[in-house]
Amino acid sequence: MEIHLQKCQHCGSRSLRNILVRDEVQKVLVQCRDCERLVARYVLNSGGYFHAGKGFESFLRSIERDGGLTSPRDVDELFHDVEAEAEREFNTSLEVLKQRYDDDLP
Ligand SMILES: [Zn+2]
Repeated sequence: MEIHLQKCQHCGSRSLRNILVRDEVQKVLVQCRDCERLVARYVLNSGGYFHAGKGFESFLRSIERDGGLTSPRDVDELFHDVEAEAEREFNTSLEVLKQRYDDDLP
């Protein structure tokens, strides 16, 4: 696993803005708040968006946008799996970054 902290490749700033785009696919455009240029674009897989703390209803809407699932039981299970996985990935990534930057993340 590779873990990186994103920064602007034009000016080096770490002050970034995520712009969420819902089109046929969901995208995240990352803009630099300092030089205002495009830093990156992410295209999300189906079911790839998880909004922490927004709960089950929000998750259900994103599943519906992606074309739905087979049964309510699957959705409930998936929600808890995705929630736990996102938290785990976040904590692991933060641990790696804290070690790399000696607890002083830029
Ligand atoms: Zn910049």
